[in-house]
Amino acid sequence: MLTLYNTLSKTKEEFKPLNPGKVSMYVCGPTVYDRIHLGNIRSYTTPDILRRYLEYSGYEVRQIKNITDVGHLTADDIAQGDSGEDKIEKKALREKKTPAEIADFYEEYFHATEKAMNILPAHYFPRATSHVPQMIRIISTLIEKGFAYEINGNVFFDVTKFADYGKLSGNTLEDLQVGARLEEHPDKKNPWDFALWLKAPKEHLLRWDSPWSVGYPGWHIECSAMSTEYLGDTMDIHTGGEDNIFPHHEAEIAQTECATGAKFVNYWVHTRHLKVDGAKMSKSKNNFYVLEDIRDKGYSPMELRLLLLSAHHRTQLNFTWKAMDQAKANLISINNFYQRLSNSTGTGNAILNIADYKRSFEAAMDDDLNTPKALSVIFQLIKDGNTALDGNGLANPEETKKLLETSMKVFGLTLETPAEIPAEITSLAEERKAARFNKDFQKSDELRQAIDKLGYIVEDIKDNNFIIKKK
Ligand code: AMP
Ligand code: ZN
Repeated sequence: MLTLYNTLSKTKEEFKPLNPGKVSMYVCGPTVYDRIHLGNIRSYTTPDILRRYLEYSGYEVRQIKNITDVGHLTADDIAQGDSGEDKIEKKALREKKTPAEIADFYEEYFHATEKAMNILPAHYFPRATSHVPQMIRIISTLIEKGFAYEINGNVFFDVTKFADYGKLSGNTLEDLQVGARLEEHPDKKNPWDFALWLKAPKEHLLRWDSPWSVGYPGWHIECSAMSTEYLGDTMDIHTGGEDNIFPHHEAEIAQTECATGAKFVNYWVHTRHLKVDGAKMSKSKNNFYVLEDIRDKGYSPMELRLLLLSAHHRTQLNFTWKAMDQAKANLISINNFYQRLSNSTGTGNAILNIADYKRSFEAAMDDDLNTPKALSVIFQLIKDGNTALDGNGLANPEETKKLLETSMKVFGLTLETPAEIPAEITSLAEERKAARFNKDFQKSDELRQAIDKLGYIVEDIKDNNFIIKKK
């Protein structure tokens, strides 16, 4: 039984979908004005693991991930995020390109990164700029119902009208007033009201007709428009990075629930930040790494993925190159074991109790997707399997291999395809093992060269054992 920590209730809850066997999931996607960094990748890896585990558990998952190509302003760390310049427009002006060219380029980059990271593509990637009519519809409903007001062509959500405002983040309006350090829009009635629609100044490039002004949408409204369009008024799961909790997701709840009258999201799953030197990895701090940095240093996307899985998504993770080294070594162990299982003839007498390992793996994943614990189960399997292979051999390599494959599929870690090792090569390697045992190192070297000439590499491991790989 899967349990998920729900940011809304602040407890781990048993997961029960709205419709039996089906799960709807919305992932707050990238703002496409720059290359996505490792922190963003972390926030997309969690919902990918969640989706993979739900699919493994027999659910049919529908996952929507939006592309933010309008409305996300530069001052998103200040108050309600409705001041500053549009991030995409700013980049377009600097690079003398159109906003659409900027968005296309970085969206492409985002998809390529997700593919390299083996993140399953969402079933649909709606773009904010293609959903302005839906946003206008929700804003009109909010005005009609008295939750929003228009002044000078700008429309704001009135936070004092929604009694539940703050239920996700735990912020109360009283606390917010005290702590207010807002760059206030002069048209707002209350400092914490947030923009649904803003009138465009003459020079603003992204602009649409609306009943209130020629303008552009606020940042938060897009996710309400796109999620309800594709998943209905109520969905099972909504994910994002922890910085999305406030104000973005708090605003999404307020405006959607006031417009539809229904509960917006049953389970809120947030990934805590990836940090560098103790600070949040972010574009604005310019302390970020992208996937190319990983590759340039000689690491692979799968090693990065393994590093991300080695921490629970609800703990902050500090990125270090030392941790990448560890991930590299761990991935080699996994692949070596896979190769050894494939070479094994199953003639040994040690039997691994696969059902037990499987149960422990599932128990860890059921416990709020505890990937570090689930990984430790697999590393125990590898350790016990290697011990058996080093000794008298493993009686059930096929069954072991199957569990390794299914668990790696849940983790989204692509295994290296094991090489088919011809019997001739195996017997040369056995001969070499005997030579080494007898300390006949000249013969052992000759045999290594013979194996090498035939296109294979023999690697020595513990207890005078070996692994054969294809060159
Ligand atoms: P953005 O492109 O800024 O809209 O961010 C896309 C997603 O990445 C959001 O869900 C953010 O919460 C998330 N995110 C941004 N920085 C980090 C980080 N350092 N660690 C984890 N998630 C992050
Ligand atoms: Zn969003």
